[in-house]
Amino acid sequence: MTEMKKFYQLDIEQRQRRLLAESPLTEEDIKTLQVAGGLSAAQADLMIENVAGVYALPLGIAQHFVVNGRPVLVPMVIEEPSVVAAASYMAKLAKTGGGFTASAASQEMIGQLQILDVSDPVMVKEELLAAKEQIMQQAAQADPLLVKLGGGPRDVQVRIMDDSPLGSFLVLHLIMDVQDAMGANAVNTALERISPLVERISKGRVLLRILSNLADRRLAKASCTIPLEALAFDAYSGEDVRDRIVEAWAFAAADPYRAATHNKGIMNGVDAVVIASGNDWRAVEAGAHAYAARSGQYTSLSKWLVNTDGDLVGELEMPLAVGIVGGATRVHPTARTALKLMGVQKASQLAEIIVSVGLAQNLGALRALATEGIQRGHMALHARQVAVAAGASPEKVPALAEQLVNEGNIRIERAIEIMNEWSQK
Ligand code: NAD
Repeated sequence: MTEMKKFYQLDIEQRQRRLLAESPLTEEDIKTLQVAGGLSAAQADLMIENVAGVYALPLGIAQHFVVNGRPVLVPMVIEEPSVVAAASYMAKLAKTGGGFTASAASQEMIGQLQILDVSDPVMVKEELLAAKEQIMQQAAQADPLLVKLGGGPRDVQVRIMDDSPLGSFLVLHLIMDVQDAMGANAVNTALERISPLVERISKGRVLLRILSNLADRRLAKASCTIPLEALAFDAYSGEDVRDRIVEAWAFAAADPYRAATHNKGIMNGVDAVVIASGNDWRAVEAGAHAYAARSGQYTSLSKWLVNTDGDLVGELEMPLAVGIVGGATRVHPTARTALKLMGVQKASQLAEIIVSVGLAQNLGALRALATEGIQRGHMALHARQVAVAAGASPEKVPALAEQLVNEGNIRIERAIEIMNEWSQK
């Protein structure tokens, strides 16, 4: 009996056939994947201004992810080689320890009102807090559908900003449960609704009315345990790889220069799924980095430690304001397909998958950096890009890339020389 080929060993059409056979995707969804970018210019014209075309990126499917006991195929949209392969490989290691345990319990976003020209900030703060119920009632009227779905305003908080360049002013936080939406529009609409009332109560002037991307009430968490035997490879023992990963993480925990790159590695995975699902990756990026600096010093978003059994344990916690309704999630045909592939019914499930992918990606980078370095893995993929850039036809790219790697000379000039040699044979 011939062994079934692995997903990465198939060509694109075979991969699409397999998705059709083994996932919830239909022929219609597969057709969406076959249109470059999955979006027509006419559809794009409805999304932003001055549309002159569409810009496609590769969509890969990460394998081996198990999140809260459920196997999930993860769509990743990214231009950088190695990311999808690393995520899949690390998910395979994590699977040997039971996969990822993830949670995203709260869908609360924070909206901010800036209140200026307040005569007595301490007294006005008390007056605003005394009117909390009235403010929340007005906010609820802005989105009756959201309230009907179980979401809506949850709290009002007031902060006095003493150290601004303009002296002191007040900031009102409207906390809203946005359920399955990213929530920016829902929150901003509610803020605009309550601002006349807030001006009346405060006798001040409301200037900005906008949500905060530091969504620290909407945290997603993932953890995984990697058994020692899964960590061993080549000449490296499991203990050695485990300890090197913890040492590498300690560097990011202590140093912002390293933490920025460490967190970028996490975002390689996070953004790829955020983009695939049609969500706002700038919002997620802003939230992640602001959260990483919450102590006053920018640091690692993840933690790596050794448990009492001697296994490696990874944890990642970060804000994840992502939705499965609203924004482009239901407008972009590929985003709809991506959400269907993951089988998510709630925004919280999407966040749980994304934070797990971020943790897997972090493990991939730490494992490679702390052992053989990342260039070996990168070079094979880089060679393919060099071969394409040198003008090789798609069928010649694999052989040309292989020769470039074997020669240890991955340059366009050499690729062109090799193609000339081949054409003279
Ligand atoms: P939205 O306004 O399109 O959709 C949310 C609405 O959908 C809710 O208000 C609700 O009425 C309805 N809805 C239906 N079913 C729902 C469910 N199950 N759960 C929740 N709501 C449901 O989208 P949004 O999420 O409020 O806004 C997201 C968009 O705002 C993104 O495109 C983002 O790029 C953009 N944006 C971002 C920022 C920022 O991040 N600073 C600022 C402005 C706009």
